[in-house]
Amino acid sequence: MRIGIMSAMHEEINALIQTVKSPRTTRLGDRSYYEGDLWGTEAVLAFSRWGKVASASTVATLILKFEVDVVLFTGVAGAMDNALDIGDVVVGEAFYQHDMDARPIFKQFEIPLAGKSFFLASKKLNTKLLSATEAFLHSDAIDDDVKKTFAITAPKVITGAIASGDKFVSSNKDAERIKQALPQVKCVEMEGAAVAQVCAEYDVPFGIIRTISDSANHTADIDFMKFTQEVASKYSIGIIRNFLNA
Ligand code: SAH
Repeated sequence: MRIGIMSAMHEEINALIQTVKSPRTTRLGDRSYYEGDLWGTEAVLAFSRWGKVASASTVATLILKFEVDVVLFTGVAGAMDNALDIGDVVVGEAFYQHDMDARPIFKQFEIPLAGKSFFLASKKLNTKLLSATEAFLHSDAIDDDVKKTFAITAPKVITGAIASGDKFVSSNKDAERIKQALPQVKCVEMEGAAVAQVCAEYDVPFGIIRTISDSANHTADIDFMKFTQEVASKYSIGIIRNFLNA
């Protein structure tokens, strides 16, 4: 198996790159791709940058140029479900593009000419990701003082729908609009559904996990740097390590 792993956060993918022994680096389309052995699995790692276009072009390159068999994406997201707290994890099932609106030609959220409004992650990968995440959350990988800083007490993992769009959601108004239109959505981010669409089009199984970093409202611009460095990147490494060793 050759696995493609991507992230929209520099800190997260860098932490993974550091665990690859002498990675081979390729520059292509303004991105860097790192190939090498990741805990015994052939891997290609890439930092996608933010947004649907950036992540779509990165995942297409992983599939076409680097010929990965599966794609994993790790990142952070804003909570849409009130039951989610910062530090919880969502394993994405269905992926919607909340800013797709070609009415009146197509229904709101329908992907033009695809005949659907969402793309589904691989059930098999999700089962593995879920247990990898549960095992990670039950370990003591995050320091107590870091947990305290972000008020993380008993982090949990859930599965559910995720919405993506080219918008950093940081107002109650925008968050409410998405919640009303897509009430099944657990969290909001900027890449997942684009990656999902490209993987579906090439018939490549994919799994996307998101650590909740904010509540997608006026408090959304928390200390992200600290959060990705001290929480989200540790989650990514720990979860992917469990996933690959399972
Ligand atoms: N590290 C940045 C913030 C990252 S937020 C900083 O220095 O401020 C943007 C990334 O996190 C995107 O890739 C997106 O997928 C995800 N994300 C996290 N919270 C989000 C929100 N409330 N709305 C949209 N995307 C969010």
